[in-house]
Amino acid sequence: MSESKSVAVVGAGIFGLSLALALHEKGYTVTVFDRHPYDETQYDPDADENVQAASVDHNKIFRASYGTKLHYQRLALESREAWVAINKSSGADLFVPSGMLRVQPSDELGALEKETLANMERDGIRETQFVKSLAGDRERAKAGGWDAKLLEFPIPGSNDARTYEAVLDSLGGFMRCSNACLYFQQLAASKGVRFIFGNEQGDVESIVEEAVGDKKKANGVRTKDGVIHKAHVVAVAGGSFTTQLIPDLSTHLESSGGSLATFKIDKEDKALWEKYSPEQFPVITWKSNPRNKTGKDTGSVYVLPRTPDGLVKIGFRGVKFTNFQPAPEGCPFVQDGKWSIPMSPKDSCTIPEAAVDSIRQFVKIFLPDFDQVPFYSTKLCWYTDSLDNSFVIDHVPTYTDNSLFVCTGGSGHGAKFLPILGKHAADILHNGDKATSFLRPFWRWRPEAPRRNGLEDGPGSPRNIGQAQVE
Ligand SMILES: Cc1cc2nc3c(=O)[nH]c(=O)nc-3n(C[C@H](O)[C@H](O)[C@H](O)COP(=O)(O)OP(=O)(O)OC[C@H]3O[C@@H](n4cnc5c(N)ncnc54)[C@H](O)[C@@H]3O)c2cc1C
Repeated sequence: MSESKSVAVVGAGIFGLSLALALHEKGYTVTVFDRHPYDETQYDPDADENVQAASVDHNKIFRASYGTKLHYQRLALESREAWVAINKSSGADLFVPSGMLRVQPSDELGALEKETLANMERDGIRETQFVKSLAGDRERAKAGGWDAKLLEFPIPGSNDARTYEAVLDSLGGFMRCSNACLYFQQLAASKGVRFIFGNEQGDVESIVEEAVGDKKKANGVRTKDGVIHKAHVVAVAGGSFTTQLIPDLSTHLESSGGSLATFKIDKEDKALWEKYSPEQFPVITWKSNPRNKTGKDTGSVYVLPRTPDGLVKIGFRGVKFTNFQPAPEGCPFVQDGKWSIPMSPKDSCTIPEAAVDSIRQFVKIFLPDFDQVPFYSTKLCWYTDSLDNSFVIDHVPTYTDNSLFVCTGGSGHGAKFLPILGKHAADILHNGDKATSFLRPFWRWRPEAPRRNGLEDGPGSPRNIGQAQVE
C-alpha cells in the first residue's frame, strides 16, 4: 500500500477496536477516538454511569446457530477458533464455552431451529448439537459430559407434564465482553495504535470535510476541544450513535433499546453460587413464540450464567424499544420528521413494563429460585439495528476517494466477532470491491434494501417509548 495512510477511527467499542487493530496490521497509522475514558475505567460497566456502549457489558452470548444464515454461522466458527486461541495464549477466560440451551416455544422443534440444525449438518458440525427428545443425541451428550446441561423445563399449564423441547449447543457460550474490549485495546495500544479518550479530546463533534464536485471529501475529525485531527480516511464505528455523526446512515440504521435485568447471588449462598456457575449452567435462550405468519421469529428471552461477581443477567429481545425524537434538519431519512436515537443514560436505567412482564414470566419458568427476588439492576442497552440484521461495513458513496468508511450495524449479534471482524472490515476498507472477504456482499452500503426488521415501524409504533418526550 501507499506509505502509511492514516485512519481516524471513531469509537473504541468492539467494531472500532477490531478494525483499528486489523488496519494497523495492514500498515495504516491508526488513531482511535472515544468520548468515554476507557483508559481510566478499563471498560468496567460499573465504573462510568454515563457509558452507553453496547460493548461495555459483563457478558454477551456466543452462538454459531444462525438459522439459514450460513455466512454468519461460518463467521462465528472462525471467531470461535480465534477466541479459543486467545484464551490459550493470554491465560484469560475471555470466551467461556459454557454451552447454550436453545429452548423451543413448545414441545416440538421450531422452524428456526430446524434451519439451524440443517445448516450445522451441512457444515459437518451436527454432532455438536444435542436435541433433548432424540435418544441418540442424549447418549452423545452423556458421552461428552454435556448431559447435566440438557435441562428440562415443564410447560406451564400443560396437564400431561410436558416439557419444552430444547437443543443444547456445545459450541455456544459467552464472552466476558468488557474484559475482552480491555484486552484488545491494550493489545492495539501495545502495537502502536494511538488512543485519544475523554469527553473533550476524545469526543468527535464532526467530520472535517470539503466539497469536491457534487461529493464531499473527509479530511479528518474535529473533537469537542476544538482540535482538528487530519486523516486520509475517517472510519466511524460509533455503535448506536453513528447516525448522529453520519446522518446519511439513517436510511440503514435505527437505534433501539434491549431490556436487561440482573439478579445478584451472594457468594455465601453456596448452593445458588454453584448452580448458576458457567460450569453447571448453560446460557439459556427461549423463543417464547413460534414463528409468526409473516415469517418473523420474535419473543426471545435469555439468561447467562453468573459472573464472578454473582450477577445473573437476563435479556428480553421480544420488543426492541425505539426512542423517536425530532431529527436534525436535512437528515436524508426521517419518519414523521423523527428518528430513533438512544435515550440518555439516566432514562436508560429503567425498562418498560412489557419487558418486566416477559422477564418475570421467563424467571418463573426457567429461574424459579429468583421468582420473588427483586431485580438488582435494570438497563436499556442500545442496539444498532440494520434493515436486515447484517452489519454495514463499507465506504460512504457520497464521499470521494474512499475517504469516509463506516463499520457498524451490530444488530444485536456483533460482539462475538471481536477477534476477526476487523480482519474482514479492513479488507473491505483497503480493497473495496476487490475485497476477498465472503462478507463483502452482505455488509455493503445498501439504501435500496427493503425496509424491514422493524425499521419500517416508525414513531407511531407501540415500540416507541420516546412518545412521552416528543408529544
Ligand atoms: C441488549 C444487547 C444485547 C446484545 N447481545 C449480544 C450477544 O449476546 N452476542 C453478541 O455477539 N452481540 C450482542 N449484542 C451486540 C453487540 O453488543 C454489538 O454488536 C457490539 O457491542 C457493537 O459494538 P460497536 O463498537 O459497534 O458499538 P458500541 O459498543 O456502542 O461502541 C461505540 C463506541 O463509539 C463511541 N462513540 C460514538 N460516537 C462517538 C463520537 N462522536 N465521538 C467519540 N466516540 C464516539 C461510544 O462512546 C462507544 O464507546 C447485543 C447488543 C445489545 C444492545
